Amino acid sequence: MTPTEVVFNLSYVLAAVLFILCLRGLSGPESARRGLVLGQVGMLIAVVGTLLHRDIVRYDWILAGLLLGSVIGLAISAWIPMTKMPERIALSHSFGGLATALVGVAEYEREASQLTEFKMAALGFETFLGFLTFTGSIMAFGKLQGFIRGAPITWKGQNVLNVGLFVGSLAAIGLLVVHPEMQGVFLAIAGSGLAVGVMAVLPIGGADMPVVISLLNSYAGLAACATGFALNSQILIICGALDGSSGLLLSMLMSKAMNRSFANVLFGAFGTALEPTSAVPQLGRSYNEATVEDAGAVLKASQTVIVVPGYGMAVSQAQHAVRDLAAALERRGVEVKYAIHPVAGRMPGHMNVLLAEANVSYDKLFDLDDINDDFARTDAVVVVGANDVVNPAAKKDSSSPIYGMPVFHVELSRSVIVLKRSMNPGFSGVENELFFQQNTMMVLGDAKKTLLAMIGELKEGGH
Ligand code: NAP
Repeated sequence: MTPTEVVFNLSYVLAAVLFILCLRGLSGPESARRGLVLGQVGMLIAVVGTLLHRDIVRYDWILAGLLLGSVIGLAISAWIPMTKMPERIALSHSFGGLATALVGVAEYEREASQLTEFKMAALGFETFLGFLTFTGSIMAFGKLQGFIRGAPITWKGQNVLNVGLFVGSLAAIGLLVVHPEMQGVFLAIAGSGLAVGVMAVLPIGGADMPVVISLLNSYAGLAACATGFALNSQILIICGALDGSSGLLLSMLMSKAMNRSFANVLFGAFGTALEPTSAVPQLGRSYNEATVEDAGAVLKASQTVIVVPGYGMAVSQAQHAVRDLAAALERRGVEVKYAIHPVAGRMPGHMNVLLAEANVSYDKLFDLDDINDDFARTDAVVVVGANDVVNPAAKKDSSSPIYGMPVFHVELSRSVIVLKRSMNPGFSGVENELFFQQNTMMVLGDAKKTLLAMIGELKEGGH
């Protein structure tokens, strides 16, 4: 082995170790930043190591690609706000899928006749899954951005058609292994990947897109893994396997935390929250509509407060105002904690990311299991744009679509202050009994504006 080859191999081993440490770091908010840095360093080492590959004959195109990728990456990170994270991830997956698929096409054109059967199978998978990830991610992006209708788009026999195309593509990959010279079959595999990506995502509701994106992430990982086998690249095999398995696990965990089966997310045509909110289902029921002054009075009389943030905090960009309200309360000697639900918002860790952006200290954030017993002995709960994650129907009403989903026991605390704009339901579209309880005050309006007014109220002093 030449010294360059030794460095090359070592760089891949080091990068692989760093990627594993990165995933480990990402499993908790305290270590997430460190995990990200480790992942970035690992990627840098892998890229530099790859540049030492002995088969590289010229660097100008590689340089052009590096520059183009960096410009696109920088533009995306500068312009897409934190609230649009699922869209950003969908977009970057589409690039990853396209890159993988194009490598597959190039490899087929270059050396189809010399590939072993195993490598041809890997190349077929890589091309199919790469194109599928590309169009699927573009569809997910479109649904989240609103340029494709967010509601499930369904038609008769679509599941049969999708499954048929999938199975047909697997058969075509088998045929290509036996007859690698059949270019038409290769093109059919590529076309089928593009079509399945579109048709599999259309029937899924816009609000379920985070699960879909996470699943597409795992497809992109599998495609990269297949590329690794086709190109003899160990680092791609390792990265692809890590990406594929973590994406799949995340999708399963998200489905579980929503108390939905995986199949229900993918084939259930559920989740229309991106459509205009449906008519108010609880017309005629009375609730306590309160003013900011009323809410301020309750908070002034409290010793312990729990803040429950939800999707509405992200929409309203109220995370800084939430932190300022907590600071104003703490100055009055109140103990403030934050209750973070695993599926609050629209992507895993959504609330953690927003609160971290507002510099809320991690030790004040509590997971569902760690805080749920505290609600019964808490003076006041401030629900900031959360709905489904505080809906008692998940515990009591077996006919409810969210029955069985773990939720916060908010209704047990002495007073509940709910900040939202209307009495409309949340993501699942079901009515929330919490809003009609005697101890619940509904302070209707944009969360950020209401919070700022509440902070002003607290500053006015007095008890
Ligand atoms: P939610 O049930 O969707 O409720 C959010 C509430 O925020 C709405 O009721 C809305 O009421 C309010 N809101 C919107 N804009 C607001 C604003 N500017 N100011 C104040 N309030 C505002 O949210 P959640 O309680 O966080 O629950 C998350 C849901 O998403 C769960 O059903 C979960 O299963 C699902 N989901 C989560 C993920 C994930 O990974 N986190 C992925 C997919 C699906 P108004 O319209 O009346 O203001």
